[in-house]
Amino acid sequence: MTHTCDSAWLERFPELEMLIPSTALQARVQQLGEQITRDYCMHPPLLVGVLKGSLVFLADLMRAIPLPVAYDFVAVSSYGDETYSTGQVRLIKDLDSPIRDRHVLLVEDIYDTGLTLEYLLGQLRQRQPASLRVCALLSKPARHQVPIELAYCGFEIPDRFVVGYGLDYAERYRNLPFIAVLNTV
Ligand code: 5GP
Repeated sequence: MTHTCDSAWLERFPELEMLIPSTALQARVQQLGEQITRDYCMHPPLLVGVLKGSLVFLADLMRAIPLPVAYDFVAVSSYGDETYSTGQVRLIKDLDSPIRDRHVLLVEDIYDTGLTLEYLLGQLRQRQPASLRVCALLSKPARHQVPIELAYCGFEIPDRFVVGYGLDYAERYRNLPFIAVLNTV
């Protein structure tokens, strides 16, 4: 069901089609937080967010993990204003601190082709963390090109271009409190 707050946004952005309402997103993020809290209670993780798309998810997720976690960010070259990846991934912002012997949980907005996650996991693994796992809010199984093991996954979604809750199109829509399909793309 679409929440009333979401309806106000949809009226202003008729190009959007609701996919995951904010209430469903929040409930799932809480569940993921509970799972992560159980799994990491003996060794609180370093949450590594991938800018910019995972920012909103990471901000909500970490507040659902009542453990002494720390967080850091990496940024990779993105789609720019395009909607589909060129397959070229490059690190444009590195972590602030070493991760050797730390328990790292990589937090990503979406597992699409998997090329970004594959590249990042390769980069981070070389630094010898104590453990390295992935939490992705969304996964598009129809688009996967490389297999990535997701320790935590919020939602599997169809092969549509989505925006909101951190995800953008040409830097727009990141501030939507829900996930929507962008119909003009
Ligand atoms: P991958 O490397 O898995 O193909 O793509 C990863 C990145 O592509 C994501 O972090 C995200 O920034 C972008 N991406 C993939 N699918 C979508 C989508 O449906 N909407 C938006 N806004 N970005 C996407």
